Amino acid sequence: MKLTELVIATSNMHKIRELRSILKHLRHLDILSLSDFPHYTAPPETGSTFQENALLKARHAATALGRWVLADDSGLVVPALGGEPGVRSARYAGENATDADNRKKLLEQMHHLMAEDRRAYFECCLALVSPSGKEKCVCASCEGAILSQPTGGGGFGYDSLFIKDGYSKTFGELEESTKNRISHRR
Ligand code: IMP
Repeated sequence: MKLTELVIATSNMHKIRELRSILKHLRHLDILSLSDFPHYTAPPETGSTFQENALLKARHAATALGRWVLADDSGLVVPALGGEPGVRSARYAGENATDADNRKKLLEQMHHLMAEDRRAYFECCLALVSPSGKEKCVCASCEGAILSQPTGGGGFGYDSLFIKDGYSKTFGELEESTKNRISHRR
C-alpha cells in the first residue's frame, strides 16, 4: 500500500502537534492521529526500552487500523538517577500522574544533585510500520541539564525543566518552532 496517509499513533496532543509541524513539508501526506479513531484502544506499553515501546505501539495500530502508522515513544533520562524516569516518564509519579506531578517528583528526586549530576537527555524513538508489516525504527537524543525549578510555560512534560546544551532557555521558554528544529523528536 502506498504511503499517502499516515496515522500518528498517540493521543498526546503535544506530540501530534510537534510531529505534524516536523512533517509539514511532506505535502502529499494526509496526517491522521488516534483522535480520528475513537474506537481504537492502544496496547499497554510493556517494553523496557523506547524502541520496544515505539515498535509495539506502531505494529498494533498498523494491524488494527490497516494503515501506515508512525509511533513515538520518548522520555527523559537522568543518568545520576540510574536512568529514571526513562520509559516511565509519562507515569513517573503514578499511573494517572499529570505532567506537573511528574516534574514535582523529578525535582524532589534531584534536590541533592548538583552540576554534572543534573545532566539529562531526552530520547525519542519513532517507529514507522506499514499494514503489510514493513518496519523502520529510528532513535535520537538531545543532551542538556535539569534546572532546580520550572521555567517557561510552553511545551509539555519536562520541557520547562530542560535546557539543551548550548542554549540559555528551557524547552518551555523557546518558541515551539525552535524546539521543533533542535529536539530529540526532530
Ligand atoms: P510516552 O507517551 O510513553 O512516549 O511518554 C512520553 C513522556 O515523556 C511524556 O509524557 C513526557 O513526560 C516525556 N517527554 C517525551 N518527549 C518530551 C518532550 O519533547 N518534552 C517534554 N517531555 C517529553
